[in-house]
Amino acid sequence: TEKISKRIADNDRWFSLEFFPPRTPSGAANLIGCFDRMAAGRPLFCDITWHPAGDPAGDKETSSMMIANTMLNYCGIDTMLHITCYGAKKAAMLEYLYKAKDCGIRSLLALRGDPHVGEEWNPAKSDFRYALDLVKFIRQHFGDYFVICVAGYPQGHPDSTSYEDDLDYLKEKIDCGADFIITQLFFQAETFIKFESDCRSIGIKCPIIPGILPIQGYASLRNIVRLAKLDIPKEILACIEPIKDNDEAIRNFGVQACLDLCCALLDSGKVNGLHFYTLNREFATIEILKKLGLWLDEQSLRALPWKKTSFSHAR
Ligand code: FAD
Repeated sequence: TEKISKRIADNDRWFSLEFFPPRTPSGAANLIGCFDRMAAGRPLFCDITWHPAGDPAGDKETSSMMIANTMLNYCGIDTMLHITCYGAKKAAMLEYLYKAKDCGIRSLLALRGDPHVGEEWNPAKSDFRYALDLVKFIRQHFGDYFVICVAGYPQGHPDSTSYEDDLDYLKEKIDCGADFIITQLFFQAETFIKFESDCRSIGIKCPIIPGILPIQGYASLRNIVRLAKLDIPKEILACIEPIKDNDEAIRNFGVQACLDLCCALLDSGKVNGLHFYTLNREFATIEILKKLGLWLDEQSLRALPWKKTSFSHAR
């Protein structure tokens, strides 16, 4: 198949889906069922997150590497594997990268990662200081074999010295060989639109894909924003606080808010593809994709015959 970077450039409207590795073998079996059902909508690619500080599940069926291997080779989905470098030594990293290559993986999301919650930052543990060092390392050892994605932060990374510095560091990752950017989640279209034009104004030319989080529950939203060190805008808090104990009302709000966000992004003309943080749950994301006309299962294609000709990412 063609590299993801080529297919991103060639497709005018597309989506991708992020999953995290399951905690248990039965969770893995359920997740594979979920991949099959979600592949029916024809994502351009799917990706698997990496555990902080390595892949502790090793060769077990719940490791990121094994899940990525299954997604690619058993489910037939073009797969991107996240890899973080905080805490990693070069030899271990090289081993991970060869393993990914042996599985047939062609796309990586190169990240710095963070220490475990409650653990002190300790640069001496790691042969890599920034994601940039990982990007360079991958290019040095594997040339152009991998497509490399990196993370961007529409509100600046929480540890960064300033928004502007963070943008400069993002540009450095691209200049040193990364192919495209996926962003941290954000809540308002203006946040992304400003970030995108700020990136363009400092000379970042690669695709910038917005990371979209459908709100699917009050507690999960609180947890995610705490981990990402983000604030929930007060307009959104005002809507969800009164309904926080009503799961169905939160989900309905989440679908509508996400639809509004996606429509504003697509209408801005700055976005062709949307990257969904699925949280390993399918219903909200599928509903949103169907309403956006991006879900391209057989039934939708029959209803939209013009899609057949413009659609080039079927495997
Ligand atoms: P970097 O690009 O290295 O940036 C980290 C900080 O260093 C920033 O503040 C930046 O401004 C600063 N910086 C960068 N370069 C320099 C420099 N040359 N000099 C001085 N300062 C510099 N975490 C996981 O554990 N597993 C995952 O699978 C995962 N997936 C993610 C996917 C996406 C799309 C995103 C947005 C984040 C993900 N994360 C994941 C979280 C990520 O690991 C953290 O946000 C981490 O804190 C930063 O990673 P980075 O790759 O953006 O870091």
